[in-house]
Amino acid sequence: MSFEKKADLIVGLQWGDEGKGKIVDLLASKYDYVVRYQGGHNAGHTIVLDGKKIALHLIPSGVLNPKAINIIGNGVVVSPFHLIEEMKQFENLEGRLFISDRAHMILPYHAEIDMAKEKMRGSNAIGTTGRGIGPCYTDKVARNGFMIMELLDENTLFKKLEAYFADNKKLFEAYGVEIPSMSELMNEIRRYKEVLAPYISNTTQIVWKALREGKNILLEGAQGTLLDIDHGTYPYVTSSNTIAAGSCSGVGLSPKDIGKVIGIAKAYSTRVGNGVFPTELEDATGEKLRVSGAEFGTTTGRARRCGWFDAVAVRYACRLNGVDAVSLMKLDVLDGFEKIKICIAYKKDGQMLDYVPSSMDGITPVYEEMDGWESLKGAKTFADLPANAQKYVLRLEELIDTKIEMVSISPERNDTIFR
Ligand code: GDP
Repeated sequence: MSFEKKADLIVGLQWGDEGKGKIVDLLASKYDYVVRYQGGHNAGHTIVLDGKKIALHLIPSGVLNPKAINIIGNGVVVSPFHLIEEMKQFENLEGRLFISDRAHMILPYHAEIDMAKEKMRGSNAIGTTGRGIGPCYTDKVARNGFMIMELLDENTLFKKLEAYFADNKKLFEAYGVEIPSMSELMNEIRRYKEVLAPYISNTTQIVWKALREGKNILLEGAQGTLLDIDHGTYPYVTSSNTIAAGSCSGVGLSPKDIGKVIGIAKAYSTRVGNGVFPTELEDATGEKLRVSGAEFGTTTGRARRCGWFDAVAVRYACRLNGVDAVSLMKLDVLDGFEKIKICIAYKKDGQMLDYVPSSMDGITPVYEEMDGWESLKGAKTFADLPANAQKYVLRLEELIDTKIEMVSISPERNDTIFR
């Protein structure tokens, strides 16, 4: 059983920070519902609206469209503290924001454990944002977690928290994290309940009803495909399924409910944190990409690692997500490069690979080189782009085996070329 109406989806095809924010913002006005399905407040878009900077980490981007309904699905891990802070940027969200009653809560101790664990890993640190996302998902899978709806029954939550701390006493000690005082924690929890209670809902039912009524729904992925817990560069990944399939479990949809899948890829590659990155450039060219692309994290301010476009990885991402159309972002960042390289295959143990192997350790990229261009400024149509830029886009399209439908040439809305 499925409805005729499908939900569209936006997903990052690399390691996150592909520029999803711009495309979601561009498309959001077409959608009645914008839904987040995984991740937590480690994701981040900054959108400038009427000269005011708005930072979104948990609230879906549809919040900028006064008519859209925004849903935080059950697959998201929600820090009530940070959500409340983020909500303060808007006047009244009642009736426009719904939080799944089954979404798991990040409580203050999760962030402390996250940071303590990273510190202990030393040089093997994953490079997490230290916001408690991993420990919260760990508790969820270990069946030790707390769902948002548990805020509504304070007495039961108190007893469960006491039992949780008793069970995990040794773990807290090992990490050198203090068990919080129950009275302080409960005060904080009461505050969360006071603010959030009106927003807590069975969001699966809301989304099903919307589909039944033929509403336009956009599922908004966070991070990127190569950070997926199952299909990414494990263990240097995030703790959730970032791929399109994650939206099914993270919202309560069936695979048949998914309509158009839009993949977002940058015209080059970046990665934050540790882990394999085949095309990384640790030289002046990498630095040039970093500076031209302003590759510093919105959430953490960390400098991103930069490198050439990896067509093998993006082709893999297109297949995993069933991408119908790609938006190629930040093509302008490649302005002024004399030569531009594309990774077309990997070499491992002397063998050429045209796919992403289960372990990417020890692989080296095989490059194809193309001529660069001066500037994309002022281009309004694909034909306006310099010939070499057109050639680059067409070659990428061929290599990733997926249509590149949009090309973005600046952070501005209008600087988006539709093909
Ligand atoms: P997200 O997490 O996937 O939304 O990506 P980020 O927000 O981290 O990165 C996107 C950044 O790149 C934002 O600062 C955008 O304004 C900027 N951006 C988006 N598209 C373009 C583009 O085509 N060219 C340039 N130069 N910047 C862009």
